[in-house]
Amino acid sequence: FTALERDDPEIAAVLVGEVARQRGTLQLIASESFASPAVLAALGSTLSNKYAEGYPGQRYYGGCAQVDRAESLAVERATGLFAAEHVNVQPHSGASANLAAYAALAEPGDVVLAMGLPHGGHLTHGSRANFSGRWFHPIAYRVAPDTEEIDYDEVRDLALAHRPKVIVCGATSYPRLIDFALFREIADEVGAYLLVDAAHFIGLVAGRAVPSPVPHADVVTGTTHKALRGPRGGMILCRAELAQRIDKAVFPFAQGGPMMHAIAAKAVAFREAGTPAFRGYANQTVRNARVLAAGLACEGMRPVTGGTDTHLAVLDLSELSITGRDAETRCARAGIALNKNPVPYDPERPAVTSGVRVGTPSVTSQGMREDEMRRIADLIGRVVRDGVDSPAGEEVLREAAAEVAEMVCAFPPYPLDTE
Ligand code: PLP
Repeated sequence: FTALERDDPEIAAVLVGEVARQRGTLQLIASESFASPAVLAALGSTLSNKYAEGYPGQRYYGGCAQVDRAESLAVERATGLFAAEHVNVQPHSGASANLAAYAALAEPGDVVLAMGLPHGGHLTHGSRANFSGRWFHPIAYRVAPDTEEIDYDEVRDLALAHRPKVIVCGATSYPRLIDFALFREIADEVGAYLLVDAAHFIGLVAGRAVPSPVPHADVVTGTTHKALRGPRGGMILCRAELAQRIDKAVFPFAQGGPMMHAIAAKAVAFREAGTPAFRGYANQTVRNARVLAAGLACEGMRPVTGGTDTHLAVLDLSELSITGRDAETRCARAGIALNKNPVPYDPERPAVTSGVRVGTPSVTSQGMREDEMRRIADLIGRVVRDGVDSPAGEEVLREAAAEVAEMVCAFPPYPLDTE
């Protein structure tokens, strides 16, 4: 950091500012957590200098002995952690992992059945704005209007009607457990591959806080930077018979040289994720999300599906007559980072929405527990309801920001000498 301060004070200032933001405000973005200093050290290393197209022992460049060790360790650790038959740790991101998974399983024009974006699916699950919707023929399943949980009858009906090549489950803003066994059954009925996009919850799987999709899926994709607390990146787990297809779909089909610094950092994260401390964190993350959702319900925000089984909750704000966009802005002004999110069958535009999404991996990494979740729910309630555009509203936001600052001060995510 000293070198950066000397050579590029502008970027050094950004790093200092971001550390202050992460330490000084509440992070409730469901897809974020805090990577350990060990993960960050591997990420900021000279492994970034190395080209290593190919796989360990079969590279297209010389000088790969050290990075081969890093990648082999990452693969070995992930294989053990997830009890997977084969692992590819090279995808640069969750979206790259999905691109490679589709490339391994389907041809352009094939039908892909996945959860619709407004119901919690991801852009890579068939959005027209994404390659997945442009290159494949996407069919979307939804949640049932009454339970707001996946409508498995509709999934089966759509599968029988459209005969997809790939069925995708796993979502961006779905708070409940997914019945992977039932998805497997439906996929088998129509001869489809089952692709589980575990980007959001693979960290909870690693920590044994939710059931694993690995025994049921043909392919599981994931990100390493969300609840898993690794570097930004992706990964793919698959059955042995698909190993070659997956590896070729990652490189050379979808990517060039792997990011060896990120792969080393993934290895560090997989090792950490196998510890009892990580299992404690993963299980506490889910307990915290349940308490936070229940607390927000008491503040007049309706948890979609009635609650959560995972690290996140989606709250419908209709009863408070405020949009997700305005709630996000008010919370940001009080030092609380969360995001607007559509609720099922949302009448508002995606840029506005009727809901917000909250997640607990970051605050749980900081050591916060149930008492803090109740306090956060109370804070969010006050900010969202009363943080209106008026002198009294400004006062509410100022007071809340001061309480947030006091609270996060007691739970620093990093030792104070880390910048
Ligand atoms: N899949 C799901 C379900 C996600 O929620 C996300 C990101 O939020 C992704 C894939 C894409 O991951 P990335 O942002 O690393 O490309």
